Amino acid sequence: MPIPTGRFAPTPSGRLHLGNILCAMLAYLSARSQAGRFLLRIEDVDIPRCPRRLAQQAIDDLTWLGFTWDEEPLYQSDRSDIYRAALHRLAEGGHTYPCFCTRAQLMSLAAPNLGDTQVIYQRTCANLTPEEAAQRALTRAPATRLRVPDEDISFTDGLFGIQTENLERDCGDFILRRSDGLYGYQLAVVVDDALQGVTEVVRGRDILSATPRQLYLQRLLGYGAPEYVHIPLLVDHHGRRLAKRDKDLDLTALAQRFTPADILGMLAFSAGLIEEVRPSTLEQLIPLFDWQKVKRDDLRLPECIMA
Ligand code: GLU
Repeated sequence: MPIPTGRFAPTPSGRLHLGNILCAMLAYLSARSQAGRFLLRIEDVDIPRCPRRLAQQAIDDLTWLGFTWDEEPLYQSDRSDIYRAALHRLAEGGHTYPCFCTRAQLMSLAAPNLGDTQVIYQRTCANLTPEEAAQRALTRAPATRLRVPDEDISFTDGLFGIQTENLERDCGDFILRRSDGLYGYQLAVVVDDALQGVTEVVRGRDILSATPRQLYLQRLLGYGAPEYVHIPLLVDHHGRRLAKRDKDLDLTALAQRFTPADILGMLAFSAGLIEEVRPSTLEQLIPLFDWQKVKRDDLRLPECIMA
């Protein structure tokens, strides 16, 4: 049996918010309660959006809260060579193609069924001949897409049960490397989870629908799949989404009013790990941790966190 290995993988394009800290806490408690390893990975693959200053801030915030991790934090911005090699393997297998579409073209061709943030690619560039692709590459650097099959991919989420997605219908051919040369999140996360020996992925429910894509990439690259647990949304005591403008819940503001144990206690209460709000360190929460206690509905913060 491999050593149980969890990880927290923030994208430092802004300061960590309470939802991130809740994920980190549950990932940490799950790993440590199995006497497992816990890793920190900085997902700064989108280098321009993720300055090192914010990565360091995330590390400082986690340290202040009492998190410890095994090994040095890994920075995705240092790992382009590794992602390039994985992309090369996928290309050799005939699973990728260059895409010359501009953002404007993509938006105008989009099938309007996934909301405005995600669109299913209509395979405009999927069947270019090598000559056509070479011709277009003279004037525009292409992105690289993965060709996905018309296949249902299922997995069992630790909280939400069986989840199924048809990659062609629900997701479409997706980007592995952007036209500016930066690698996409899906590729980087799959490569890193595999190479770091991650056995359990705990992350926000907003990423649940990316999991079938990641399972498919794992299969193509010959990697095993970790277990997945997606965490419900963290909401305020009225059940409303937390807004970025909620400055009272910013860590700078919270740190003036609360200790790390206060904050972790409130999050542990929201998740259902403890029945009343009380200051709790990570050490104290480890023996109390049990996925069975974690609710599937939105997780409500206690009112006392509000200023
Ligand atoms: N980097 C992603 C985020 O901060 C999380 C990815 C993952 O946990 O797989 O939203």
